Amino acid sequence: MNHKTSSKIYALGIVAHPDDETFLFAGTCLKFKEKRLNTAVICATKGEKGADRLNRNLTKKQMATERMAELKKAAKIMELSFVKFYNYKDGGLGDADQPGLVSKLVKELETFQPEIVLTFGKEGISGHNDHIAIGRAALAAVRKSKFKPKEIWLASMPASKIKNFNANLAKRKVHHSHFRKQILKGVADNKLLKINIKKFRKEKEAAIRTHKSQYLPGMIMDNFLTQEYFEVVKIKP
Ligand SMILES: [Zn+2]
Repeated sequence: MNHKTSSKIYALGIVAHPDDETFLFAGTCLKFKEKRLNTAVICATKGEKGADRLNRNLTKKQMATERMAELKKAAKIMELSFVKFYNYKDGGLGDADQPGLVSKLVKELETFQPEIVLTFGKEGISGHNDHIAIGRAALAAVRKSKFKPKEIWLASMPASKIKNFNANLAKRKVHHSHFRKQILKGVADNKLLKINIKKFRKEKEAAIRTHKSQYLPGMIMDNFLTQEYFEVVKIKP
């Protein structure tokens, strides 16, 4: 056993794209860190199909390089212990070999033994197929792993905010083929753990700014700069 508790990973984030980590749980990670609890992130794709909002006509390869660098900068702000990238196709996570993805994640859980897993809930926040696929794979991995985290925190949109969120999404140019067609419902507010991150708003904004190929100023709803929302699933040992 490693007795240096300061190097232990308390929370393992499992996401689909560079920038998911910032949007879903930047503030929560900093709150953990304040209690000397470490977070690390596994990102299944390199985000090569990202939006290129700076209109630089990047190739997919350049976009992947750019986005990995952006995530590494955000990781410094979020004080992550490490970031690990897989090489799945951006936009193709749902079509990838699911048992293969799940067993990779099982290995990570057994290696790092986090107490909490942070990932996407069933609507994948925005309905993006990659988000839904990685959330499902992370949940399957937790169920299959010999090591059991105590809880899995599924980032979710509160039902009370979903109308505004849908309107906000509609304003953003996204690859519509990657999104579910059905209308997002969110999760009932009383089922969600709300983490107040007001104290770390500046850091979250700074982390968002590192993802400059994806977000223009003002693109994130104010609400997500002060709160993060999770449906907590307790895992039986
Ligand atoms: Zn994403």
